[in-house]
Amino acid sequence: MEALSTERFGFFRVASLSGDPRVASVAVLDFGGGRLAETVDGRAPPLPRREKWVINLSTQFGCPVGCPCCDAGGDFRGNLSMDEILAQVRWVRARHPRLADRCKKLKVHFARMGEPSLNDAVPRAAAALPELLPSGGLHCCVASVAPRGRERWFADLLAVKRRHFPGRFQLQFSIQSTDAATRRWFIPVPHLDLSELARLGEAFVEAGDRKVGLNFALAEGSPFDPRLIAERFDPARFLVKLTPLNPTAESVRHHLASLLRTPRQREIEPAARLLAREGFEVIWSVGDGREDRIGSNCGQAVRRLRPWAVLA
Ligand code: SF4
Repeated sequence: MEALSTERFGFFRVASLSGDPRVASVAVLDFGGGRLAETVDGRAPPLPRREKWVINLSTQFGCPVGCPCCDAGGDFRGNLSMDEILAQVRWVRARHPRLADRCKKLKVHFARMGEPSLNDAVPRAAAALPELLPSGGLHCCVASVAPRGRERWFADLLAVKRRHFPGRFQLQFSIQSTDAATRRWFIPVPHLDLSELARLGEAFVEAGDRKVGLNFALAEGSPFDPRLIAERFDPARFLVKLTPLNPTAESVRHHLASLLRTPRQREIEPAARLLAREGFEVIWSVGDGREDRIGSNCGQAVRRLRPWAVLA
């Protein structure tokens, strides 16, 4: 556990700093008025940070989506401005002043608190990253549940991808299940269906680009039909990523149990084999168990400071 800091950085205060520096340090940045955002300065063990550095940014103060597996929902206080998003980058950069331009792979994820596509400042913030982090290894990654009605935002993001991150950008869709009703429960806002995700995602994979990730944080009982994936998505443009369901307060409250990182993980091996036969790259992203033990999953650090922020 890192020491608590109350240090001031311009227009925010570091309200807490937790985690394990060997895996991920999670800061809660206090921008005033009860607006708290988590920022993660992470690594990819066992690689040293100079080989791979992972920065994870919040785009919203809380999250209006309120997925039942995530602690980021519950006390939504609006969007971060572009300057506030970039302030997170500056803070992480200042922790390792000699690494920003010499790190081999520097991944900036817009994947912490908030649904990025609900914040119009995100594409502009992504476009500003190469100036702040002048590393040849800079990669940008955006994870989204793909809410309905945000086509214009994705078009803006696509333009940023083309201009600033050719071959170094990844879009990820958080899908959770192949069953529409289950998806409606796990993603409680109107969102794109599988066919619509396929059409939207295809545009993001041009010559030399990374495939779009189809992320499934599988809970026990969540339908996962590989044939539906194979029917709708092109394995030349999409990969499948299987991840554990994080043991957040909301997951526990909703009695959700992860399939991955448990003996029941074997149950989805046949589905993964079918996808592989269909030509899909299947990534078992079981991560590092220390992330769970140190409570570094999305929303957990803010929730520790604001335990009353529980979803209705
Ligand atoms: S998983 Fe993403 S969209 Fe869902 S509540 Fe958490 S931050 Fe929001």
